[in-house]
Amino acid sequence: MTNVIKTVNLTKKFKDTMAVDNISLEIEKGDIYGIVGPNGAGKSTLLKLITGVSTPSSGEIELFESKDLEKGRKRMSAILENPTLFKDMTALDNLEYFRIQRNVPERSKIFEALETVGLDPSSKKNVGKYSVGMKQRLAIALALITNPEIMILDEPISGIDPKGIYEIRNLIKKLALENGVTFIISSHLLSELSNTVTKFLVIDNGKKIKEMTIKQLYDETSNHIILETSDNSKAMALIEEKFKYGVSASENNSVKVLNAGDDISRIIAFLVENKIDVLNANKTHQNLEDYYMNLVGR
Ligand code: ADP
Ligand code: MG
Repeated sequence: MTNVIKTVNLTKKFKDTMAVDNISLEIEKGDIYGIVGPNGAGKSTLLKLITGVSTPSSGEIELFESKDLEKGRKRMSAILENPTLFKDMTALDNLEYFRIQRNVPERSKIFEALETVGLDPSSKKNVGKYSVGMKQRLAIALALITNPEIMILDEPISGIDPKGIYEIRNLIKKLALENGVTFIISSHLLSELSNTVTKFLVIDNGKKIKEMTIKQLYDETSNHIILETSDNSKAMALIEEKFKYGVSASENNSVKVLNAGDDISRIIAFLVENKIDVLNANKTHQNLEDYYMNLVGR
């Protein structure tokens, strides 16, 4: 796979704040890459460095496997913090303004973009009257008119109602899947991104805390069983053989059976049949936000 974005030891220092501290990452084409961290973690600064709004104190950036960032950034669109929309204009007029400003020759692009994000081109409603979710979709439409291969969205779903979140998520997934657009999206909540991203990076105090794929996240947090038995090593061997679940020794002399929550009663019965006493059995399903708070040490 080809990297479309790569950073090496990227660092941004403001006076005595390390806003971005030695961040190295690689993002592949078609990834929906999440940047997660509490307020002040350095998310916006990291995105500004990648888009060129801000210059790094040290470290390197490559776009499309090249150091020619000016060229690479032409293939990128970003919505950082609050996008500037003209409130007393319609969606169509906003798009027309940006089309001309960005030298996009085909007027059809603005209709395509509105259709993609599900806004009505013939609407006479001024953008000032739009919901937060509609404004966000319009901002994405603005970003789309230049046909970007990379889209960078800073907190695209904060402050949006559930229906709006659902629509933005589907839009991002559709663009990634059907058009091969690579996304970087940020959020202060892991649960907000976990349904959308393919991979994510947790940062705090400018530093990389953890990078993982969504599959790794679910493997670490979902639907396990914790067992205490009269013979843990025998129990582990039997469960592994019979049910093919992953097993591991866990804290307090217990056994962890991965992703086996739905089979808890069958597993208990099976152990008892095999003359192993079950002293305790619990399902664990770690809440994503708890998992994340643990990572960032809150
Ligand atoms: P996030 O987007 O994750 O909330 P930011 O990237 O906005 O975090 O900020 C990271 C840190 O850098 C914060 O401590 C913030 O106060 C500081 N910071 C951001 N921009 C500036 C700036 N222009 N001047 C000084 N400090 C800044
Ligand atoms: Mg921010």
